[in-house]
Amino acid sequence: MTTIKCPQCGGPSLWDESNKARPFCCDRCKLIDLGAWASESYQIPVQPSDEAYEDYSSSYDASGLPANATKH
Ligand SMILES: [Zn+2]
Repeated sequence: MTTIKCPQCGGPSLWDESNKARPFCCDRCKLIDLGAWASESYQIPVQPSDEAYEDYSSSYDASGLPANATKH
């Protein structure tokens, strides 16, 4: 039987098919880790840049077609 160190709490974690939370020692540690990862990613500020918007509006006209598309 192999025991590894739980990445969340540092305690012994059973590396076995019976441990559904591996490499974590238990579901709780697994959820804490996933939760921390999720909340970190949500904290990244998403600020649309004016430059990117202008690039978009110059490439596409109001109909959403590329500006260089032939109109009939
Ligand atoms: Zn743990």
